[in-house]
Amino acid sequence: MVKQENNKKSSGRAFLYPKKPHGKLYNQRKWVSYTLLVLLFACPFLKLNGEQWVLLNFLERKFVFFGLIFTPQDFYLFALAMLIGVLFIVCFTVVLGRLWCGWACPQTIFMEMVFRRIEYWIEGDANQQKKLDAQDWNAEKVFKKGFKHFLFLAISFLIANVFLAYIIGSDQLYKIITEPISQHTIGFISIWIFTFIFYGVFSYVREVVCTVICPYGRLQGVLLDNKSLIVAYDETRGEPRGRIQKNLDQSQKGDCIDCGLCVQVCPTGIDIRKGTQLECVNCTACIDACDEVMIKINKPEKLIGFYNHDFIQNRNPFKLGARAYGYTIVLVLVILVFSSLIYKREDVQTTVLRASGTLYQKRPDGSIANLYNAELTNKTNRDMKFVFKSADANDKIEFIQADKMLQKEGTAHLTFFLIKQPKNIEEFKSKVKFEVKVNGKVISETSTTFFSQP
Ligand code: SF4
Ligand code: SF4
Repeated sequence: MVKQENNKKSSGRAFLYPKKPHGKLYNQRKWVSYTLLVLLFACPFLKLNGEQWVLLNFLERKFVFFGLIFTPQDFYLFALAMLIGVLFIVCFTVVLGRLWCGWACPQTIFMEMVFRRIEYWIEGDANQQKKLDAQDWNAEKVFKKGFKHFLFLAISFLIANVFLAYIIGSDQLYKIITEPISQHTIGFISIWIFTFIFYGVFSYVREVVCTVICPYGRLQGVLLDNKSLIVAYDETRGEPRGRIQKNLDQSQKGDCIDCGLCVQVCPTGIDIRKGTQLECVNCTACIDACDEVMIKINKPEKLIGFYNHDFIQNRNPFKLGARAYGYTIVLVLVILVFSSLIYKREDVQTTVLRASGTLYQKRPDGSIANLYNAELTNKTNRDMKFVFKSADANDKIEFIQADKMLQKEGTAHLTFFLIKQPKNIEEFKSKVKFEVKVNGKVISETSTTFFSQP
């Protein structure tokens, strides 16, 4: 059994020295990671219809996704969008295990494709890093460590800025950066707090985020089943493992030569040959490492590969399990409901409520009036001049208080009497409909009740 010797212990925390990975999958991962990084950095700074591509302003409860603005009134839509996200991750995990963690999670991408690569560049591969850490402080060590941590801090500062651009908006971030600090003390302090949090995560906490802190990793035991594709060691083929010994019959041995490379490249420090483990983030570095060994010893590749337990134990070909179908059906249904709600969603939300007090007023000319309060919420980022009227042309509206303009993302309030002539009233309690028009086009409708004398 290969011992994990690529660790350093410091105040109870075992630091790992994973060997620099390389290979086909690692190259593909690089391209996926850099594409996702470009998207991650671009989304809060590129604009569509005057709004940044993605905004997650929890403080003001405003969320923007590619032109769609969600205000507090749209909370149910936001909750549904979150549910779709969770269901998607569940479906994805049931079929493809923790592939998200290794290939798309920002934590892994920054750690493995940015910070770790800087570390390899400055300090060298695992053995050189170990040697540098073990040696006494000298000019070389001070320079390498200092330079590395300076770059780590600078990148953490950049990430903190982008993170804040998602939360408070890129325009607000620009103000914090360009205007005097005294005007944005809290924003300025926040940038530095997040900078040090990211710096701490990527320089010290590292893989502990994935193996201990992240709740998604803990869910694996519940989500994975025998049919889930995961990074796995084909023990049927690999065991009994053993080093190649010249002049000895190797025919009774499995394909694993116990070289330990799969363990040495693992960023979470585990031995995949021990079976599925919560710590495995499916980064596929061990697949590349083992493939290289298999090629060298003239054995078929993928001793470690994407397999499910059903294949490893019974050699059954991959088939989607019932759970995957079940989750997919639920996901498709929720997406359909969400899409229809988005399709029906109005740019202006109108609420009309009867004013408290008398049910109705009978006027000297015999007409009947009901008093209402209305609130109009503009969910777009443009100001609107609107007309509020009854859908029934016979009705008359007498405004007591009325805004005429609906500011972008703002609200307008109206208080008014709806007046009907007795000949147009058939029941004690009838339904009345109101319309909001902008440029002659009805953009919002709502209805309520109208009371008259019995
Ligand atoms: S076991 Fe393999 S796939 Fe899992 S984290 Fe380690 S190197 Fe990555
Ligand atoms: S890299 Fe492959 S051959 Fe080497 S120890 Fe791991 S599984 Fe065995």
